[in-house]
Amino acid sequence: MELNKLTIKQAHQGLIKKEYSAFELAEAALTQIRKHDQLNAYLTITDELALNQARKVDKKIANQEEIGLLAGIPVSVKDAILVEGIKCTGGSKILENYIAPYDATVIKRLKKADAVIVGKTNLDEFTMGGSGENSAFGPTKNPHDLARVPGGSSSGSAAAVATDSCVYSLGSDTGGSIRQPASFCGVVGLSPSYGRVSRYGLMAHASSLDQIGPLTKTVEDAKLVFEAIQGKDDKDSTSIDKEYEVQNTSYELRDTKIGVPKEYFVGGIDSQVEKLVRKAIAQYEKMGAQIVEVSLPHTEYAVPCYYIIGPAEISANLARYDGIKYGLSEKADNLLQGYLRTRQKGFGYEVQRRIMMGTYVLSAGYYDAYYLKAQKVRTLIKQDFVKAFEKVDVLMTPVASTPAFKLGEKMDDPIEMYLADIYTIPAKLAGLPAISIPCGQIGKLPVGLQIIGNQFEDEQALQVGQVYENLS
Ligand code: GLN
Repeated sequence: MELNKLTIKQAHQGLIKKEYSAFELAEAALTQIRKHDQLNAYLTITDELALNQARKVDKKIANQEEIGLLAGIPVSVKDAILVEGIKCTGGSKILENYIAPYDATVIKRLKKADAVIVGKTNLDEFTMGGSGENSAFGPTKNPHDLARVPGGSSSGSAAAVATDSCVYSLGSDTGGSIRQPASFCGVVGLSPSYGRVSRYGLMAHASSLDQIGPLTKTVEDAKLVFEAIQGKDDKDSTSIDKEYEVQNTSYELRDTKIGVPKEYFVGGIDSQVEKLVRKAIAQYEKMGAQIVEVSLPHTEYAVPCYYIIGPAEISANLARYDGIKYGLSEKADNLLQGYLRTRQKGFGYEVQRRIMMGTYVLSAGYYDAYYLKAQKVRTLIKQDFVKAFEKVDVLMTPVASTPAFKLGEKMDDPIEMYLADIYTIPAKLAGLPAISIPCGQIGKLPVGLQIIGNQFEDEQALQVGQVYENLS
C-alpha cells in the first residue's frame, strides 16, 4: 500500500484498523519530502515534532482510546503560520532565524486533534505574490512541470499536497493564495469566508482579507480540515461565532441555482481553460442544477482596488519589522539608519514595492483620492455579489485565466503578475468563501474550477464541490 497517496479518511480508517501505524505514516511523509527536495516546497522539516506526535497517537490506538479523524495524519503548514518552537520565516530574510514563540490558533486546534506536523512550506515573502518566486529562499517548482511555477503564495503547500509529501496542508489566502496554487498544482483549496477561521498567529499581510484555509487532495478532506480549524476565537476579534453546519450526505443538486458571471469569461482567458470550466458547469447542469447567467459589473475594478487596500494594510502591518522587536537587526549609528538598513536588507523587492505603494495611498495628500475611493469601490464589488446571491446559491468561475506559467515569465512585470489574480480577488474583497477544484488538464497542466459561496455559507460551497468530486 502506498501510504502517501491516502486521503484523510482513508488514512484514518487504516490507522484504526491497525493496518499501519501513525509512525509509519509520518515516516512515509518525511521520506517523500526528501524525495521531492528539488521542488523546494519545504523550508523546514519537523521530523522530531512529527515522530513524537505520531508515537503519541500510536499509544492512544494501542490503549484503545478513540481517536479523531485528523489524529496521526501528516500535515504541512505554510511558513507564515506560527508553530511554537519551530522556525517561522514568512519567506523573508528579515525573519530568517525567527523561532515562533507560540502556536497560531489553527495550530492549537490541529494539535488538539493530534495532527502530525511534518514541516513548514515555502511561500512568497509575507504571502505577497502569485507564483512562489518571491520567496527569499528560492522559488518552489511546479511538480507537473519543473520549468513552471506552482502558483502562490501558498506555493510549497500546493506542491507538497500534489506530490503526496503530506496528506493536506494549511495555507493562507488574501487575494488568491490558496486557490490559484491549488489550481496550478491540481489539488483542492478552500479560502474560507472572512471571519470563519481565526487569523491569530498568521503573519499579517492585509488583515481585512487574510484567511487561513486547507489545501487537500479531495473536497471531502477540505471539509474535515475546515471543520477542525473554524470557529470563534477570543484572540481574533474578527472571527465570528457560527456553528459548523453538518451536512446531509444525500445532497441533491435539483434545487441548486448556479450563477455564471459573464464578466469572468471576457478577453484574456485561455480558450482551453474556458472550455474545461464550461464543461464542468455543463456537468452540473446535467446533474440537475439550474444555470443562471449573472452580472458582477464592478469586476474590472477588483484588481486595482485590491492593490490599493492591500498595500495600505501592508504598510501598516509590516512596520513591526523594525530591527528592534525581532528578526534581522542591522548595525547603525542612529535609530533611523537602523530602520532603513534593516528593512532595505531584510525585505525583498515586491515587499518594498508594496510598502511604498501603501504608504503613498495613505499619505495625507492622496488618502481621499486612492484609499478612500478604493474602500468605496470595495463596497460596490460587495454589493454586486449581494445582488447575485439574491438569485443563485453559488457562483462558478475559472480560478485563473491560464494554467501554470513559466518560471520567470512574469517576474519583470508586476502588473502582469497582479492580473493573474483577476478571478480570485473579487470574492476576497467581498469576504466570501471560495474553493478551487481540479476540473481537467491542458497537457499535463491542471486547471481549477472556482466555486464561490454566499457569505459564511462555506459548507454549501463545499457541498456543491463534493458533488462534482463524487462524479469523477
Ligand atoms: N497574489 C496576490 C498578491 O500577491 C494574492 C496573495 C495572497 O492571497 N496572499 O497579493
